[in-house]
Amino acid sequence: MLRLIIAALAITSLFIANAQNNSHNSNINDGPYIFIEDQQLVQKSVVDGAVVRKELIAETYDTTFRVEPSTYIKVEKIAALSDIHGQYDLAVEILQNNQIIDEELNWSFGKGHLVIVGDIFDRGDTVTEVLWLIYKLEKQAQKAGGNLHYLLGNHEYMVLHKDLRYLHEKYPVVSELLKMSYDDLYGKNTVLGRWLRSKHTIIKINEHVFVHGGISNAFLSTVRFDLASINKTMRESIDRSKEEMKATDFYTTYYGSSGPIWYRGYFYNPIPEQTIDSILTKITSDHIVVGHCSNEEVVSRYNHKVFGVDSSIKKGEYGEILFLLDDRYYRGTKEGDIIEFE
Ligand code: CA
Repeated sequence: MLRLIIAALAITSLFIANAQNNSHNSNINDGPYIFIEDQQLVQKSVVDGAVVRKELIAETYDTTFRVEPSTYIKVEKIAALSDIHGQYDLAVEILQNNQIIDEELNWSFGKGHLVIVGDIFDRGDTVTEVLWLIYKLEKQAQKAGGNLHYLLGNHEYMVLHKDLRYLHEKYPVVSELLKMSYDDLYGKNTVLGRWLRSKHTIIKINEHVFVHGGISNAFLSTVRFDLASINKTMRESIDRSKEEMKATDFYTTYYGSSGPIWYRGYFYNPIPEQTIDSILTKITSDHIVVGHCSNEEVVSRYNHKVFGVDSSIKKGEYGEILFLLDDRYYRGTKEGDIIEFE
């Protein structure tokens, strides 16, 4: 009899645990993740905690992505922001109020170039939404004669290299529901995974270099400063293992604290202005625009030679965008007020 009661209790508690688990997951929505199979695409989404699978014809999405140029000239208007870190609503608000996109979330920046200076991934719970928005806007921008450049930051490279420490708690649940490691949701056989693998780490528009962390003298002493070849090296490193990269100086050079996606030398214990001048001379540029170091707003350092566009969007409260127009520089606030840097 006792055994029966214990068994009944065990079953009841199992049932309750299960129900709680389901109700906990029922507010989870994510995706779509598009997997490329032989003759078709398979779309998987999480809808109210349940996996919804759908087969799509191969033409529904692009599955090959052209590598864009690393250098652009004669661009009349440029905007930049970074470190969105899964804060979709706030990013949309900033982009709308600054006339980069309209009320229907369509590109309205004309022939302008928008640069996302890395770190869409990690921390927040709307990473996928931001990625698909950027994916769509990129096509619309190019059609309008403009462009959208999504540069990869340290958090993109971390996730793609299976470092999942900074994921929002939602994503391990998604990954469990889809029975797949989170980084495999961005694997080589996925639409977004292939798209990410076509992305640059560093670009130059007019006289401005854009890169997530920054360019250090240490990096320049090791690597020939050729944008296309740095980008190719970084793209190819996505599918190299960390162990293999760490077996040589490669990892320290490209992924170390003086490398382009991790460097913080313009902000914390900032290097002297003459060092900035020597870096700018070596990279034959007038300005460097970086993310990665959080400030409360878009900031200018070293007499407008360096702009920091990580305006702490990651906190989900406030953020800004940088505008570079005809040698004049402006902050666009969350509300869309334009303030010129003196
Ligand atoms: Ca970063």
